[in-house]
Amino acid sequence: MTLTAMQHYWPLVLSNLKNTLPLSHFNTWFSAVKFKELSDDGRKITLIVPSQFNKTYLQSKFNSQIREAVQKYYPNVVHVEYVVEVEKDEEKPQSQSAIEFSVTETDDELDIVTKPKFAKPKNLHNLNPKYTFENFITTNCNELAVKVAKSIAAKPGQLYNPVFLYSGVGLGKTHLLQAVGHAVLEKFPSYQVRYSTCEQFFNLFLSSVQQRNNQSFKEYFRDVDVLLIDDIQFIAGKEATQEAFFHTFNELHQQNKQIILTSDKPPKSLGAIEERLISRFEWGMVVDISKPELEDRLNVLDHKLKQLNLNLPQEYLIRIGEAVNTNFRDLEGVLNRLQARLQLIPGKPLETYELEKVLSNFSGSLPIKINIPSVSAGPIELIDYICQITHVSKEELLGKSRQQNIAQARQIAMYGAKEFLHLSYPAIGSIFKRDHTTALHAWQKIHGLLGKDAWVTKIVDTLRVKMI
Ligand code: ADP
Ligand code: MG
Repeated sequence: MTLTAMQHYWPLVLSNLKNTLPLSHFNTWFSAVKFKELSDDGRKITLIVPSQFNKTYLQSKFNSQIREAVQKYYPNVVHVEYVVEVEKDEEKPQSQSAIEFSVTETDDELDIVTKPKFAKPKNLHNLNPKYTFENFITTNCNELAVKVAKSIAAKPGQLYNPVFLYSGVGLGKTHLLQAVGHAVLEKFPSYQVRYSTCEQFFNLFLSSVQQRNNQSFKEYFRDVDVLLIDDIQFIAGKEATQEAFFHTFNELHQQNKQIILTSDKPPKSLGAIEERLISRFEWGMVVDISKPELEDRLNVLDHKLKQLNLNLPQEYLIRIGEAVNTNFRDLEGVLNRLQARLQLIPGKPLETYELEKVLSNFSGSLPIKINIPSVSAGPIELIDYICQITHVSKEELLGKSRQQNIAQARQIAMYGAKEFLHLSYPAIGSIFKRDHTTALHAWQKIHGLLGKDAWVTKIVDTLRVKMI
């Protein structure tokens, strides 16, 4: 009997823990910990521990390290459960026991001998429940990719094979890839679907070589109807893994099993990848998701706001759509931050400066308009402008408050007076009713934040444009 795939990751988790923990701790506390099962939704992993004491100790001392190591290989797991099971003797009935392994030292390498004892694998597909077609918004930039994905999901292995989907980061490749997996399982519940990142493929291959057991590796990747490999670009430069993938690919392709690959670039640009693989990647359908235009971004924004049940004024939406011109992941990030702010202070509408603060990591200068004829711009205009952007009043700016946002606005104003109006420190000191050393300190403080604090940098950049 062979090692089932979900168990197969467990030795990798152990290896990982072994590298991060002192050896004595690892040997004492982990050498008897075993994989029991993964819940159907992939969110809970259950481990077998030999005693209540061992359980308590792991939970109190190593819980976060265990969770971190587990999540590297079981990315959906949010909960780690320990059950105490005492091993009675070697001859357990097969159905009861989880995978067994013993840990021995060889040249400081972890040598994990696996003796799998049960066969019923669970949740082998490795899909994230969030990434479905229902949650995926079709817009101009991904329209063709969605059409291809949906037709493949309806007739896996019969239309285009392989499908090679590429785009820049955060544009929905992983989401779309997994959506196909979910849709296939819905329509053909008996189909075997496997989602794997290229990195997982590589790690499993490596561990199969180390264990001299490539049967389970083969089964995991070849006993499938739909194979979904994410970020195939990472196979570049890994020759042995390419060889393994080549054979996997051929076998599946010959049997008309559906293969879908994603990448951050088209096949021809993949770099250190064997030509025979590249040509195979191009056999079927190569499709991309293009960089979203403003219309695409507004479209996705609109849908996401509805999903999140968020209400924002129309001009904010346009501002977000214009500013976040990178990808949909960034767009989601901005909406999550705005949602958090609105939930934390529910009664208070979002101010422009708060929105600008959230947007400050994105390109483009601040939109607040101010008419400064550039030659005559002086301290009054500068102060007015800083007040508008930071939402601090003139009285506060020129007053004594040390409140963080007020003090920082004041420092930016002093910095601007030195940098763009070329005033001396004593002159700046007298405008702000402060010592010249305070003005110098303000300049140093803001200078130190440039390039590190996105919000401060943005304001200074905008001042540079406006004041010169
Ligand atoms: P990639 O794999 O191309 O880097 P992901 O699939 O991880 O991108 O997408 C990044 C985030 O953006 C995910 O949370 C995903 O759900 C979301 N996303 C991307 N495109 C869309 C879309 N068209 N509709 C809804 N969400 C999307
Ligand atoms: Mg991805």
